[in-house]
Amino acid sequence: MESWRNWSGSVVATPARIAVPKTEAELSAIVAAAENVRVVGTGHSFMPLCETDGVLISLADMSGEIEVCPDRETVWSPAGLSIGALTQALWARGFSLLNQGDIDKQAIAGAIATGTHGTGRTLGSLSTAARAFRMVLADGSVVECDATRDPDLYEAQRVSLGALGVMSRIKIAVAPAYRLRETIRRAPLDEVLNGWDQLAAGHRHVEFFVFPYADQALLKILDLAQEGDDPTPTEGGTYKLFCDIATAAPFLAPTLQRIMTGAITSSTRAAPAHRIFPSERDTRFEEMEYEIPAAAGPDALRAAIKEVRRRRLPIIFPFEFRTVAGDDIWMSPMNAGPCVSISFHQYARMPWREAFAVVEGVFAAAGGRPHWAKRHTLNADDVVRLFPMAKRWGEVRKRVDPTGKFLNAHLRQLFAFSI
Ligand SMILES: Cc1cc2nc3c(=O)[nH]c(=O)nc-3n(C[C@H](O)[C@H](O)[C@H](O)COP(=O)(O)OP(=O)(O)OC[C@H]3O[C@@H](n4cnc5c(N)ncnc54)[C@H](O)[C@@H]3O)c2cc1C
Repeated sequence: MESWRNWSGSVVATPARIAVPKTEAELSAIVAAAENVRVVGTGHSFMPLCETDGVLISLADMSGEIEVCPDRETVWSPAGLSIGALTQALWARGFSLLNQGDIDKQAIAGAIATGTHGTGRTLGSLSTAARAFRMVLADGSVVECDATRDPDLYEAQRVSLGALGVMSRIKIAVAPAYRLRETIRRAPLDEVLNGWDQLAAGHRHVEFFVFPYADQALLKILDLAQEGDDPTPTEGGTYKLFCDIATAAPFLAPTLQRIMTGAITSSTRAAPAHRIFPSERDTRFEEMEYEIPAAAGPDALRAAIKEVRRRRLPIIFPFEFRTVAGDDIWMSPMNAGPCVSISFHQYARMPWREAFAVVEGVFAAAGGRPHWAKRHTLNADDVVRLFPMAKRWGEVRKRVDPTGKFLNAHLRQLFAFSI
């Protein structure tokens, strides 16, 4: 038995076998023969989505070519391709993804399975760009679904945590290739929160980071650019050093956070979009994220910071605040309208459960729903209460996988209503 762990190190599993098929036919035979299966992308999820004592399938060896569709607005991508490899291949053909998140290491299938998103008031998650899926179902059959071919399976699959089958190829909406200019600057947190609507409306992408014990936010603004090819990254070794010091002496965190924030200087750079979106994330952390109705977002962040300070929680990572457009995906936490997305991180080597419980209470009270891949404590009753289409999603799950081949302990608990 080989052991497997996720990116942050908080989920460790010992699957009976790790299978790395090279072809769809091989993938289909593995799925058909297995009793329990989970599929893994690159293991960047914080929740135990890929934990299994059955067969863990990776599509890392099934990469293949992308195929531009005749409409030149969509492409078929191998599901196991990393976002980085996909966006490079797109750029070479004159296309970009409509939006991207913080990193580009994830498999495109892994990112779509959990509703991974970037920031942008009018831009939805990567799942909203998925136009069709080619999938291997529990019995090994290969199907394609979209808005007209088995639309229920398509709707259910758009955010589905690998619980319905294994995607082998995904048809994704793309944009003509574009460049972005990034501006980084510091601003007082109150000023940013009070003017958030104008800021978000004034730029293609805006987000900010704020340490819980600092009063200055670090703004990251991206707008379309005509030219530029300087993708020099901004995060460096100082931050890792800071985390290591704060781990050894958590009581120093407030002072360090003020020093760190004060040391940040303004900068700009411009380059092809896919080289500007991702940052290096070398320092491992654990993360929770809630999607909160847009109007309630600023107050939810203020309340969370207040709680962290009141309880003197030793948090040494910043909050991250982004906007995401509303969508119509059954199991998407963005399906009730425009959201702000607030992430709460902790250095992986420091305790996080107590602080996450406190902040989760604040975000839930603000009407938030969690990012499925990041730490949360929802149970099946919560899922039914919070997601009006959950039972319909559960019916599709039961139809395509009646024995629960694709469910692990975490998903059985989360989706007990569908068993
Ligand atoms: C450093 C870091 C930065 C991040 N930044 C962002 C961000 O900016 N925005 C954001 O929203 N999230 C972000 N995330 C979360 C991340 O995007 C999600 O956890 C995503 O699901 C990870 O993709 P993965 O390829 O690692 O998938 P995994 O974690 O390996 O798997 C995730 C899910 O996808 C399923 N899956 C994988 N491949 C397939 C397939 N072929 N068919 C069916 N199901 C499949 C798995 O079964 C599992 O349920 C970040 C995470 C980290 C660690």
